[in-house]
Amino acid sequence: MAAMTSSARPRLNRRLAEFGTTIFAEMSALALSTGSINLGQGFPDTDGPEEVREAAVRALRDGHGNQYPPGPGIPELRTAIAAHQLRRYGLSFDPDTEVLVTAGATEAIAAALLALVEPGDEVVALEPYYDSYAASIAMAGGTRVPVTLRPHFAEGAAFRLDLDELRAAVTDRTRLLLINTPHNPTGTVLTRAELAAIAELAVERDLLVVTDEVYEHLVFDDAEHLPLASFPGMRERTVTIGSAGKTFSFTGWKVGWVTAAPELVSAVRAVKQFLTYVSSGPFQYAVAEALALPDSYFEEFRRSMLTRRDILAQGLTEAGFEVFRPAGTYFVTTDIRPLGEKDGFAFCRTLPERAGVVAIPNAVFYDDREAGAPFVRFAFCKREEVLREAAERLRAL
Ligand code: PMP
Ligand code: GLN
Repeated sequence: MAAMTSSARPRLNRRLAEFGTTIFAEMSALALSTGSINLGQGFPDTDGPEEVREAAVRALRDGHGNQYPPGPGIPELRTAIAAHQLRRYGLSFDPDTEVLVTAGATEAIAAALLALVEPGDEVVALEPYYDSYAASIAMAGGTRVPVTLRPHFAEGAAFRLDLDELRAAVTDRTRLLLINTPHNPTGTVLTRAELAAIAELAVERDLLVVTDEVYEHLVFDDAEHLPLASFPGMRERTVTIGSAGKTFSFTGWKVGWVTAAPELVSAVRAVKQFLTYVSSGPFQYAVAEALALPDSYFEEFRRSMLTRRDILAQGLTEAGFEVFRPAGTYFVTTDIRPLGEKDGFAFCRTLPERAGVVAIPNAVFYDDREAGAPFVRFAFCKREEVLREAAERLRAL
């Protein structure tokens, strides 16, 4: 009888029932098993700066960070994060009370939501949303309320936020807005006017804001990354999230961070200490050095990704995709309908076989699967020759 009871009840708790294996793991496994070019999961195929890697080796050899680092992160890194926010954005944070080092941005997102959301609270998030947002909201017992970025095709295809829809999504139960700019997977960078409107709404409705800005250094053409925390009334109510994985091309190191007002950092830290307590000891020393690299590093990184964006965007256009040329991130979203296809899932499952390329169906980032069905995401954080080869294969489709 006991066996019946246990088999009737699924092992995974109900809050997480809808979350199986992440699409990134599934698609990377498919790339390996089929020997395809992996433009699915967003990780660079070349490591970040040699001097940063050397700094990690040095830390490890010198015994820095081989034992538990301090809970909030090593002081050198917290100071470097604060200096980075000041140098780039004129935002001043106290390294002791307003900065927290996390196990990548993923832990920062989870800890922030677990800390700030009560069961039943509504969390308004931009759809399509990065997959861990939905899972973290669910773990916190919150209710996600998606606001969909809609495709616009005139004058350069792009996904845009409808501010009226955003305003309409806020109710008396809304606890926080979960924002992401530059936005994964669409490549949209929110404009000054859009961010100002979000800030006004947050102040008017007294909402907290969690803003995922991990692609802050990857903005192209005329786009500019503006941190939400720099808008009027936002410094006290915003939790800003960054990641060394994206900015320095060391995604395996899992060093991320939070900057916010002291009460918000304390709340996030209270949760973080029971998730991982601490992580990435020696890598924290290396990232502290990385954040102090001269502006030329960040500019060169941006320029090299811009070149790659253009190679892939052109290849995809020539292969017949409708391309949403991204203003930021290292992803390009496409519409597959011009190819006579309409189901991104089916398309991505057969693409390795048909073309030897792996991509991500954007539908996984939607509650409204129909709205996301025709869109497919390709990552361009890969060597130029790899992108050219992928484009060549896709043209043969
Ligand atoms: N946020 C966004 C928007 C991302 O794209 C990613 C991962 N690529 C993360 C968070 C997670 O970052 P990390 O690897 O630092 O955990
Ligand atoms: N953020 C990466 C992407 O969007 C994936 C990271 C992960 O697999 N957790 O591709």
